[in-house]
Amino acid sequence: AKVEEKLFQNRYLVDAGRPHIQIRPHEIPSKILLSLTYTCPAGCYSRNDRGQVEIAADGCLECGTCRIVTAETGEIQWEYPRGGYGVLYKFG
Ligand code: SF4
Repeated sequence: AKVEEKLFQNRYLVDAGRPHIQIRPHEIPSKILLSLTYTCPAGCYSRNDRGQVEIAADGCLECGTCRIVTAETGEIQWEYPRGGYGVLYKFG
């Protein structure tokens, strides 16, 4: 099966009002932030009409990619969702 079909089997529980990932406010996004708009496997990052990078953390797979690539720059605040929220992986 294609990866999209596999991803579709996972469920995601949104913790409303408590996004677990936040981007540091910026005028002009860094190259690292821009790279996330195409490396995040869940497509959570996008550019708004002013060119800034935004995140919609719903559907985040908690893969850690964005956390790792911004570890040095601190552009992203990343926490695991509270217990019971976030991605619920279906195995098999
Ligand atoms: Fe995307 Fe992974 Fe970061 Fe979640 S942890 S927003 S899936 S890159």
